[in-house]
Amino acid sequence: MKYQSTRGHEVPQSFSEILLGGLAPDGGLYLPVQYPQVTADELEAWRKLSYADLAFEILSKFCDDIPAEDLRALTRKTYTAEVYCNARAGDNTADITPLRTLGEEGGTKLQLLGLSNGPTLAFKDMAMQLLGNMFEYALGRAGLELNILGATSGDTGSAAEYAMRGKRGIRVFMLSPHRKMSAFQTAQMFSLQDPNIFNLAVEGVFDDCQDIVKAVSNDLEYKARQRIGTVNSINWARVVAQVVYYFKGWLLATTGPGQKVSFCVPSGNFGNVCAGHIARMMGLPIDKLVVATNENDVLDEFFRSGAYRVRKSAETYHTSSPSMDISKASNFERFIFDLIGQDGGKLAALFRDVDEKGGFDLSGTPEYERIRGEFGFVSGRSTHDDRVATIRDMSARYGITIDTHTADGIKVAREHLSAGVPMVVLETALPAKFADTIREALGHEPERPAAFEGIEKLPQRFEVMANDASQVKAFIAGHTGL
Ligand SMILES: *Cc1c(COP(=O)(O)O)cnc(C)c1O
Repeated sequence: MKYQSTRGHEVPQSFSEILLGGLAPDGGLYLPVQYPQVTADELEAWRKLSYADLAFEILSKFCDDIPAEDLRALTRKTYTAEVYCNARAGDNTADITPLRTLGEEGGTKLQLLGLSNGPTLAFKDMAMQLLGNMFEYALGRAGLELNILGATSGDTGSAAEYAMRGKRGIRVFMLSPHRKMSAFQTAQMFSLQDPNIFNLAVEGVFDDCQDIVKAVSNDLEYKARQRIGTVNSINWARVVAQVVYYFKGWLLATTGPGQKVSFCVPSGNFGNVCAGHIARMMGLPIDKLVVATNENDVLDEFFRSGAYRVRKSAETYHTSSPSMDISKASNFERFIFDLIGQDGGKLAALFRDVDEKGGFDLSGTPEYERIRGEFGFVSGRSTHDDRVATIRDMSARYGITIDTHTADGIKVAREHLSAGVPMVVLETALPAKFADTIREALGHEPERPAAFEGIEKLPQRFEVMANDASQVKAFIAGHTGL
C-alpha cells in the first residue's frame, strides 16, 4: 500500500514513512493511492471478531509494511475492555464501541454508537490510544525520540496525553490557556504525574497557545534539533484507526450481507466523517453519511450549497459544543480530492483559492451532483437551543443523558431518517465533560464514571508560562537534553 499527497507532487510513501509526519512536503494530505476493497463474504466473516482483531484486519490493508504479528500485538494492546471501560450500565463493554438502540423513529431504528468510553471520555481516544502504541513501536524500531508539541483548549490535548503517558521515546509538551479550561478538563490533564508529560499553562488565550506552536514549528533548525512533532487531526493513522468503528457499527446494526446503514457524525475538522467516507469507499454498505455541525456551519453550508467558505477566527463562535468550533475543516481536503477524481493539480488550485480568496464554489458543477449521489453525503446544523431541547427530549423519551456534541448529531440525524435504514449516531463524548449545559437542560449534574469521582481534588502538575515562544522553547530544550 502506497500513499500519495492530495496535491499530487509527492513520490508515493509507505505507511511507516508517513506515520510520524503531518502534512506532505507539498502542503497536501496523505491518502492511499487506491482504497483497499472489502467483500461481502469478508464482512460476514468479521462478525465474530473482537474489536481488536477487526481493527487488525482493516489496518493490515493499509499498513502492510508493519509485520502482521506486530500489528496484531498493537491492536490487542490498544483495544481492551480495561482501556475502554467507561460505558454506561447495560452496554456491552466487550464491544469497545457498544451500540444502543434508542427507539423507533421515522420507520427505522435510531441508534447510538458509543465511542467515548476511553480514558478521556471522548471519541478521540479511539484513534489516539492506537497512535500512542504505534509511535512507541515505530520510534523504538528506528531508535528515535519524538517530542510532541501541541496546543489545546481541552479535548485533543488530554486525549494525546493519555495516549502518550509512559511511552518510551516520547515526551508531550501541551500548551493550554492558563485558568481558561473547565475544572474537570484541567484536572484531567494536570493530574497526570507521568514524567514524560508536561502541561504548560500559558498566560493568554487558546489562540496565543496556537501561535506559540506555529512560531516554534517555523523555527526549522530548532524543530529538527529538538525532534518536535505533532498529533493533529490530519495524521493519517488517526483517520484510518477511525475507519474501524464504522465497520464495527455496521456489523452491530445489521444481521446479513448488503443491508444499508446510515451514520450521523457530529463534525468539526471532518476527521471523523472522513473515516466514514473511506469505509464507504472500501465497500461498506453505508447509505448516507450525515454531517452535523453546530453554529459554526462551514461544512453544512458546503454540503447544502456547494460553496466552501472558511471563516475568520473572529467569525468563529464559542458554543456549547466547543469541540466542533472550527472555522476551517482540516481533513476536508481528503474528501474533495476524491470528489474531483483524485486530480492533484485541480485540488491544489482549489485550495490556493481557499488561501487567497477564502474559499471555492462547486455549485452547478457535475462534482456537486456527485456529493449526494455517488458519495452519499447530506448535512444539517444545530444551535444551542436545539442542543438543550434534544438533551431534554432524549432524557424524557429514552432515559439517557447525552453530551452536547452528540445532541447536535441526534438533532440533525432526525432530519435525514429513511424507513428501513438504521440511523447510527456517533456518540463523540460523554455528558460528564459538559456539565454546564447538562445542568441547564436537565437541572442536575451529569453522571460521572466512577474513575472520575473527585478528580478535581488530585494533586496537579503544571508550569505557568508567559505568552512568549522563547520561554516555551527554553523549557522544552531544558527537558529534552537535546
Ligand atoms: C473532536 C470532536 C468532534 C469533531 O470531530 P472531527 O473529527 O474534528 O470532525 C466532535 N465531538 C467531540 C466531542 C470531539 O472531541
